[in-house]
Amino acid sequence: MFCKNCGNEIPEGTKFCANCGQAVEESMPNGGSSYSYTPPQNTTVYTTAPGSEAKSKMAAGLLGIFLGGFGIHNFYLGFTNKALIQLLVSLIGGVITCGLATVAMEIWGLVEGIQILTGTINTDAQGVPLKD
Ligand SMILES: [Zn+2]
Repeated sequence: MFCKNCGNEIPEGTKFCANCGQAVEESMPNGGSSYSYTPPQNTTVYTTAPGSEAKSKMAAGLLGIFLGGFGIHNFYLGFTNKALIQLLVSLIGGVITCGLATVAMEIWGLVEGIQILTGTINTDAQGVPLKD
């Protein structure tokens, strides 16, 4: 039979995979109460999920002020939908409206940049407070 975890071939009757140490679940109908050993789980649990680290208020604010028209600060903070709207309206809408939409998005970004710096916006998309 083969290890469900890594696919290594295991001799019959072996309870643990020699390759990865995973307990081998034999398909025994008469329920194995002999399993007292719980294999070490892969406890490389992401207690701090990637991206949940506090982001810089200063960086986000400045991005908003200088590049806010393209939604860069919202990409940075994880507000991807809003960022995409700003980016697309700024680029595509800007072409259609001879730059008017771009100016509007820049004002929006500028306002949000200021709101970030003044603390009106003080968390990222995951609700993680921004750090100074
Ligand atoms: Zn294995």
